[in-house]
Amino acid sequence: LKPVITIDGPSASGKGTVAALVADKLGFHYLDSGALYRLTALYALRESVNWEDALGVARLAAQLPAAFRDGKVWLDGNDVSAAIRAEDIGMGASKVAALPEVRAALLERQRAFLVPPGLVADGRDMGSVVFPRAELKVFLTASAEVRAERRYKQLIAKGESANLDRIQLDISERDARDAARAVAPLRQEPDARLLDTSALTIDQAVDQVLAWFAA
Ligand code: C5P
Repeated sequence: LKPVITIDGPSASGKGTVAALVADKLGFHYLDSGALYRLTALYALRESVNWEDALGVARLAAQLPAAFRDGKVWLDGNDVSAAIRAEDIGMGASKVAALPEVRAALLERQRAFLVPPGLVADGRDMGSVVFPRAELKVFLTASAEVRAERRYKQLIAKGESANLDRIQLDISERDARDAARAVAPLRQEPDARLLDTSALTIDQAVDQVLAWFAA
């Protein structure tokens, strides 16, 4: 038995945090699919391949020397956990993610995360493309203001400089691109449950997903 819970939603909605905690509670594996797109963008940058070069980036994505180990993300043996979280890499990820060739190159790699006892996968197209037959699909979101605020606090907590207006602009630009692209656009699947976390704590969001899964 290999159940899957998919958690899709816009950037900075908190889906990564919720997905990782749900996986933890259930003892399931966790797939952060956004990290694969971020790794691809970072790898292209380091290999001097332009983010608009569909075939060049797809070739890199197909042989991405990446690993998820010890709670860290590795590229070519280097810990890039912090590097892939940079705002410009998030923007690059959303650019390479709009290329069908890149999405195709990463598809099987994502499905390979599904091994017993089960998987929680977060991203944009987990319930629509990668795991369309998931036992539970969640569309996790929050208002644009709340999402910008959360991202802002994250950056400040990391000791980085942050500008709320800039963050709000970046988030809406990324959301617009993710929703408008031709392949796997961001949208709520008809069979996905809507979880608006604007007024919820992390624990409340996690409990709601667990309750849906248990039902
Ligand atoms: O979730 P995260 O912000 O890490 O994702 C970075 C970018 O990767 C997103 O803006 C989106 O364009 C892309 N992505 C995607 N499909 C996924 C996960 C992420 O297109 N399943």
